[in-house]
Amino acid sequence: MYATVMHGPGDVRYEQVSDPRIEKPTDAIIKLSATCICGSDLWPYRGLSERNGPAHMGHEYCGVVVEVGSEVKTVKPGQFVVGSFCLSDNTCPHCAFGFHSSCQQGEFMTGAQAPYARVPLADGTLVATVEMPDADMIPHMLAVSDVLGTGWYAADAAQVRKGGTVVVVGDGAVGLMGVLAASQMGAERIIAMSRHATRQQLAREFGATDIVAERGADGIARIMDLTDGVGAESVLECVGMGESMDQAMGVCRPGGAIGYVGVPHGVSFDGQKLFFSQRRMLGGPAPVRRFLPDLMDRVLKGAIRPGKVFDLVLPIAQVAEGYRAMDERRAIKTLLRVDE
Ligand SMILES: [Zn+2]
Repeated sequence: MYATVMHGPGDVRYEQVSDPRIEKPTDAIIKLSATCICGSDLWPYRGLSERNGPAHMGHEYCGVVVEVGSEVKTVKPGQFVVGSFCLSDNTCPHCAFGFHSSCQQGEFMTGAQAPYARVPLADGTLVATVEMPDADMIPHMLAVSDVLGTGWYAADAAQVRKGGTVVVVGDGAVGLMGVLAASQMGAERIIAMSRHATRQQLAREFGATDIVAERGADGIARIMDLTDGVGAESVLECVGMGESMDQAMGVCRPGGAIGYVGVPHGVSFDGQKLFFSQRRMLGGPAPVRRFLPDLMDRVLKGAIRPGKVFDLVLPIAQVAEGYRAMDERRAIKTLLRVDE
């Protein structure tokens, strides 16, 4: 089959690779219904993370099971499934504690920007629906796999509560999903930091009550002003840069919580400053598996439409243009069609 391979920074190709096959008895092979490009795929694309040779890209997926290994029990061929970008056994102590992204057997999904993909640890990673979802549900189900799951985790880690005040730092796809999550969790005030008109509009659709376009010290001052000098009790950091983390710290009230889900690049903390600021912090790769059944249910009931975050749809053969569009910020997030 053809699949997406990154050969180096800026060099993404749709090219011939060997077909995925069952390698372990706990594997499943799925036929993708759709796939997409993640903001985190842009780190290697921009040469900002280590790479050893060509990489099979893609970790966001939903589709139909076509084959399972001999030990797979919970999913079977013909079922529609969504899985997390973090593969997990769903049985070890960390999974049982809700932190599937630190699973003792865990690894990261790869190779999903393709028509077919191998999903290791299928029983602990995939969740099947009762019925085959309608085609118009696919973008929303796909979003659950990572981008919504990650935004949800940011809100969960930031302890968003009913009636609370929330600040979301970052207007990328994950930040926008963080706004949606905070809204679903009943936050009364959701302040989204965004400078871009189209992203501001989407943030409002997802539930933002206030938009702050200023950045850095000005952005912090504006939010302190909006919160009567107190700050927010829940802050979602959805970027991963030094400046965005400083903003998150700067707008969080003492005793408040910061959920940080942007992979840190150039972020460091001063121990004394952290000590006296009294902020709670929880971050890391999202344990999406914990949230999957609930989020899939919300999508299927029509309560949320997270797939609105996809503002560019391309056939997968044009995946290179999908990366370019996101790199140049012409697109928030690219959905790749895999129908042949
Ligand atoms: Zn586990």
